[in-house]
Amino acid sequence: MSEQQTAGTAGETTPAGRLYGVGLGPGDPSLMTVRAVEVIREADVVAYHSARHGRSIARSIAARHLRPEHIEEKLVYPVTTETTDHPGGYRGAMEEFYAEAAARLAAHLDAGRTVAVLAEGDPMFYGSYMHMHKRLADRYDTEVIPGVTSVSAAAARLGTPLAEGEEVLTILPGTLPEEELTARLAATDAAVVMKLGRTFPTVRRAVTEAGRLPEARYVERATMDGERTAPLADVDEQTVPYFSVAVLPSRVASPPPAPEHGSVVVIGTGPAGPLWLTPEARGELAAAQDLVGYTTYLDRVPHRPGQQRHPSDNKVESERAEFALDLARRGRRVAVVSSGDPGVFAMATAVLEVAATEPYADVPVRVVPGVTAANAAASRVGAPLGHDYAVISLSDRLKPWEVIAQRLAAAASADLALALYNPGSRSRTWQVGKARELLLEHRAPDTPVVLARDVGGPTERVRTVPLADLNPADVDMRTIILVGSSQTQHTNNTVWTPRRYPD
Ligand code: SAH
Repeated sequence: MSEQQTAGTAGETTPAGRLYGVGLGPGDPSLMTVRAVEVIREADVVAYHSARHGRSIARSIAARHLRPEHIEEKLVYPVTTETTDHPGGYRGAMEEFYAEAAARLAAHLDAGRTVAVLAEGDPMFYGSYMHMHKRLADRYDTEVIPGVTSVSAAAARLGTPLAEGEEVLTILPGTLPEEELTARLAATDAAVVMKLGRTFPTVRRAVTEAGRLPEARYVERATMDGERTAPLADVDEQTVPYFSVAVLPSRVASPPPAPEHGSVVVIGTGPAGPLWLTPEARGELAAAQDLVGYTTYLDRVPHRPGQQRHPSDNKVESERAEFALDLARRGRRVAVVSSGDPGVFAMATAVLEVAATEPYADVPVRVVPGVTAANAAASRVGAPLGHDYAVISLSDRLKPWEVIAQRLAAAASADLALALYNPGSRSRTWQVGKARELLLEHRAPDTPVVLARDVGGPTERVRTVPLADLNPADVDMRTIILVGSSQTQHTNNTVWTPRRYPD
């Protein structure tokens, strides 16, 4: 405990008082900690925030521990809505209020008085106390007494586990924009949305948009008088107070209600790693009951309790599609997993093709996009695909080489930059050499060519070579080739294609 003095060395200096941020818990006074009660009992000054009406929830929680000898400091917010005639606007008004409030507390501390600032819930968790802490804790001996948050209180009242095992719990202020809420809610396992009230309609739309309404719960005034819990879907939005939260509980502990009908969603997981997995795709992977996909791609998806995985080899796509659709027909929520984007040389078409046949007429199929390899690879060197470009697979397993050759020639003569997927494998080794010869008929030998292998993965390697030096031996299943147009520039490590042609 550092002892701070107000000033000077003369005998009569008063040691400064101590500052406490006191968490009071969510509302029920019996949920205050023993330490919070002790600190309040020993404090000279008890401070609390309130709106202009003067009623303080924090004070009412602590009321039974307040004595007439306590000096009470009301810190009354000048504004609660965001309209004010302060020259600095809402922010300016608040800044001035916090500075003035901190000065009042500092005066007590300088006079040697112990100051307890009351905070509903926990002081460091979205609380007003923090504004005092930031202004005073570096100058005065300070202690924060943690409190039970509304998050814990809400989970306790719902009687459902909030997060278990490796589940991620996301805490969101309801004041965020709707789309931001939607993305976060879609991607997370469990969630608590705080600060409802006026934000309620937005929050409920976001929960719905994220597909989480069936499992979403609502808790109003947890552990306070007038407490209420309900399914979020049933809440009348006119009646929602600020002291309420929306909760998406643990999916492991209480799985969301089974969907009424099975469905298939074809998901693109991006070229590698969670940085390139969209929030929507992440959420869909978590919500699926069954995962179907090529072993290599499925291995990238984290295991979740209760989910069935059906890995397969990379060969017969239509069989995999049929398998997924059959599961869905039996009522399961099925995710078919592709790398990159599922519509780019991947499973989406195969699933839709089979789904168009009679037995699957009633199975809903959705496609969720992903970052495709071409764009991920391009980003590593700059913007080689910054102007018009063509996307061509060099695999002649599903189309004859003559078609590929024709397309390469057509794209090359149109001066399109190219993204070449599936350039080669252990068994397909000559396609890249043939492609180089075709392209050289239309393009200069020094045209920049980007060879990108395992982009975003642990063995990533990206090089730029002149077209004339493109070597089939440098290419495998995990490589994508980007070929520049006549305009593509290459300096040092950067490759880009300008968006305009010279006049
Ligand atoms: N649906 C995927 C493409 C599947 S075809 C997508 O949108 O990216 C498989 C080909 O994609 C590979 O042969 C390779 O050319 C390319 N590819 C996929 N991931 C890659 C990565 N991380 N790095 C380089 N190329 C990749």
